[in-house]
Formats: sequence, C-alpha cells, structure tokens
Amino acid sequence: MVRVHAVAPDSLGAALGLSPGTELIAVNGRALEDFLDWEFLTADDRFMLHVKSPAGEEIEYDVERPEGWPMGVTLEPPRIRRCANHCDFCFVDGNPAALRSPLYIRDDDYRLSFRYGNFATLTNLKSWDVERIIEYRLSPLYVSVHATDLTVRRWLLRNPEAPEVVAQLRGLAERGIAFHTQVVLVPGVNDGAELERTLGDLYGLGAPVLSVSVVPVALTEFSKVHLVRPPTRDECRRAIETVGRWSTRAVAERGAPWCFGADDLYLQADEPLPPAEWYGEFEQRENGVGAVRYLQTRIAAAGDTWSGDLAGKRIAVVTGTAMASLMPQVVTPLAAATGAQFEIVPLENSMFGASVTTAGLLPGAAFRAGLAGRRDLDLALLPAEAVNDDLVFIDDLHVDQLAADLAIPVRLSYDFVDALSESSQASGAREGKG
Ligand code: SF4
Repeated sequence: MVRVHAVAPDSLGAALGLSPGTELIAVNGRALEDFLDWEFLTADDRFMLHVKSPAGEEIEYDVERPEGWPMGVTLEPPRIRRCANHCDFCFVDGNPAALRSPLYIRDDDYRLSFRYGNFATLTNLKSWDVERIIEYRLSPLYVSVHATDLTVRRWLLRNPEAPEVVAQLRGLAERGIAFHTQVVLVPGVNDGAELERTLGDLYGLGAPVLSVSVVPVALTEFSKVHLVRPPTRDECRRAIETVGRWSTRAVAERGAPWCFGADDLYLQADEPLPPAEWYGEFEQRENGVGAVRYLQTRIAAAGDTWSGDLAGKRIAVVTGTAMASLMPQVVTPLAAATGAQFEIVPLENSMFGASVTTAGLLPGAAFRAGLAGRRDLDLALLPAEAVNDDLVFIDDLHVDQLAADLAIPVRLSYDFVDALSESSQASGAREGKG
C-alpha cells in the first residue's frame, strides 16, 4: 500500500477526488507496494484503481486517462531499503552525531538506483526484487561493484553473504538490464591486480556494463580509519594507469572509453584531467566523474547568454576543498565570458572534518562562517548540491536563514549558467531570501 502526499490541481488525480492521505491499494487487482508499482501500473490509458479515502471509504475507480492528462499524484516518500553491508568506509558511519535522522539510514535500494542514480550493491535483493527489475525494466541500474573477486568484495562490504556479483550482473544483463558501475578504491585491498581483475571481469560482461568509474575512497575523521586509509598519490597514479589501459582498449574495440577515473583520483594523483570529449555524455558526473569538464562545457555552451550586468561584479564561488584546486580551470573561462571577477572560497567541512572535501556535504554553518563579515562581494554562489529539495543544508540550516545571516546575496548554482545567464535571471534562480 502507498499513500498520497499531494495532488496537483487540474490533474486526473484531482478530478478523481484523490487527496493527501488517500491509500492507493491496488491497480487492476494488483496490490501496490511502492512508487514503482504506482508508476508502471498506472501508465496505461485505462485501469481499475482501488483506493481507501482518508475517511476510510474504499472506492474502486474505472479510470480512463485522456491522452496527455497527468495523474498529478505525489506519493509519500518510500520506505528505504536498508543496507545489508558494513563497509569500513561507510559514509553513514562517518556521520557525526546529531544530524538529520535520514542521514543515519544505510540505504541500498535498487529502486533509488534506477530512479536517482544512487549506487546500490544489490546484496539485499530478494528473488521477487529481481523479477520486478526485469518486469519493469529498471535499466540502467547504478551498481557498486568494488571488486569482482567474491572474497575481496565480501571483505570490502563486510558481508559474508554477499552474492557473486558477476553472476548477478550477467543474469540481469541476459534479461535486458544494463549498468553503470563503480569501484571505490581501497588501497591494499582492491587496487593493483584486483582492480585489473575487476575491470577485466566487468569488461567481459560486454555492452550491458555501460561504464565503470574508479573513485578513491573518501573517509571522514569519524570513519574506521584504523581499518581503511586513503590512497597515496602514487597509488592514485597507478590506478589512473590501469584506467587508462582499459579505456584505451575500450576506445579501440568499442568506440568509447567505458572506464573512467573520478576527478578526485586525478586531483589526488596530481595529474591533469582528460579532455571533455573523453567523458561522452558525462553519465557519471554526479559521481564526481568529469564534473570539472562538464562545467567547462556548460560555460562554453552558454555563449553570449550571460546576464548583461555581470561585468565588474565581484562574485564568490564557494565550494569544498576538493573542487577548489580544480575550480580555476572553470572560473577562468567564466570570467572571460562574463566580465565578472570570481573569487574561489574553499571551505573546510566543519561538521565531518577536513578530510571530507566534497561541496555537497558542506553544512550551512560552514558557509555562514566562511562568508561572515564579507561586504566586499556582490554575490556568493553556493553549490546547489549542498541543499535538499527543501533548500536545507545537511545541518538543518535553511538557505533563507543563511542569506538572512549574511551581508551579501547568495544564490544556489549547479553549473553557473543556472545562476548567471539571462534566462536564469528571468526565471528566478534559486536564491536565498535574506
Ligand atoms: S554499501 Fe557500504 S557504504 Fe553503502 S550504505 Fe552499505 S555499508 Fe554503507
């Protein structure tokens, strides 16, 4: 059973009289487990819908959907599938106390993998999950492989029950499912010969494995650092060499690199990033793979659509320490295109510790401290990844509150274009209302 959270006006859901709190029981006699059932089973033009109103009345609708009319129903958030693993590098273990409770959930959910590109290990799949993946064709899935050797993978996941991942992927691939995969590189465990083997096994699965990224393990001062350590510069360089061999082979045999190092791998190796063309459609940029080149591409593509009033403006680009050293490669062409002056403001993570360097995990308090007293700027751009859908930072500070606490305007941005172009000004970029 799933429950309605909201119903859009002028939608089919509103016309049926669905309202927040309505239980959606079944479609065509099939019980609804979650949003996947709802979306797939109501995709037809005609279906029977069994609901229970907030007042307790059970109703059966014979729904005929006029073409183009949306259901307009937002569901209550799904119950997240819990993770069966206990990785030493687990982000959740790395969370300090007193964060929002969802941040303590170890999610490992193939549904969110399909929908949002969250990586999942697939170690908690039941047979009926597999059937659903195939029936609903949940493809591509984003899969954390880490290692294809069973013993190594079980060690990394701290899960003696983890199934053999190559067989699992092959079985799904044979039934039409494709994958983006990642290897979180843990030095001394899945690098070197193990990485070689893992990439070889994934390559051997053929076209269904759409890509693989190699991402250096990220730790916080709260992680089990006595059990796992970050890779050294030379270890990152060796991993890049391995990635390079496989991507060169993939280009020759399949016409695309297939295997990518995360930006962070190049950063930690002190090596230049590959060119933008290397990343194709930037399919793993949300995973920090090609993010810098993606931004450069977006800026170049904006052409002369930048807002006309930027010349001479002093704009802070606030980011985590990981991107800070890469950012000059992004803001130099941005300054040339807009005439604005950009100041990169790297922030250390005051909540997770200095070793957590990604912008998306910066707490609101870090932005407040980093920009406190700054009156010499016209605007500060904040990474939009750092807030959730409610515009709240990881420490529960709302962006409006942050804006109210600062002497300069702030604006959230994913790619600069969304905050600084003419069209963003016209449509209203996501801006803190101080
Ligand atoms: S798979 Fe590992 S890192 Fe991911 S949530 Fe589970 S324990 Fe944490």
